[in-house]
Amino acid sequence: MREPQVVLCPVCQFEYIHLASVEVDQNGNVATVTGDGVQQHRRPPSGARGAIVRVKAWCENGQHRFAVVFEFYKGQTSVHTEVEAEPDDPPELWRD
Ligand SMILES: [Zn+2]
Repeated sequence: MREPQVVLCPVCQFEYIHLASVEVDQNGNVATVTGDGVQQHRRPPSGARGAIVRVKAWCENGQHRFAVVFEFYKGQTSVHTEVEAEPDDPPELWRD
C-alpha cells in the first residue's frame, strides 16, 4: 500500500486543504454531499458517457477553490483539476 499523499492547492501549492463537498452527476441526476447532508437535483445532461464525480475543496491560503474531477469515458476514467471562482464563505464537509 502506498503512503498517503497530501493534496496541494493547484493555485498556490499550499498544503492545508479543506474538503468542501462531493458531487456525483449521473446524466443530469446530481447528488451533492455537503456538511449539511445530501441534496439531489436535476440539471441538463452534460453529454458525458458516464458518471462525473467532483470532489470540491479550498485552501487556507486565500481560500482558492478547486475541484478534482473524475470522469468515466469509453471504459476509462480520467482525472483532472478545475480551479473555480473564489466564494466569500466556502462550504466544508464534516470534520472534528
Ligand atoms: Zn491556494
